[in-house]
Amino acid sequence: MGSLIPAGEGPSARCRVCGAVAVGPCARCRSAVCGDCCELTDGGATTFAVCLPCVRRGGTSLAPAWRGTLLWLAMIVLGLATIAALIAVVRLR
Ligand SMILES: [Zn+2]
Ligand SMILES: [Zn+2]
Repeated sequence: MGSLIPAGEGPSARCRVCGAVAVGPCARCRSAVCGDCCELTDGGATTFAVCLPCVRRGGTSLAPAWRGTLLWLAMIVLGLATIAALIAVVRLR
């Protein structure tokens, strides 16, 4: 393979998937990806690019950990509500 990139232009980031010149970093793993190897995802106010390995691993969502925390909170609240209900039942007797 000959050098297609002219020397002296500085180090250009290469796509981690196919090795082409990258257009930007992945929003999840920060690896450089080219336009063909990323999927655009709507992250609220901004649109993010997520590389295909990350998409395959967990979709284009940027907040899987945040969702897990929310699930945990819901379970804790549910548990506390159950305990409170049990105490109320015991006191009524
Ligand atoms: Zn690529
Ligand atoms: Zn990635």
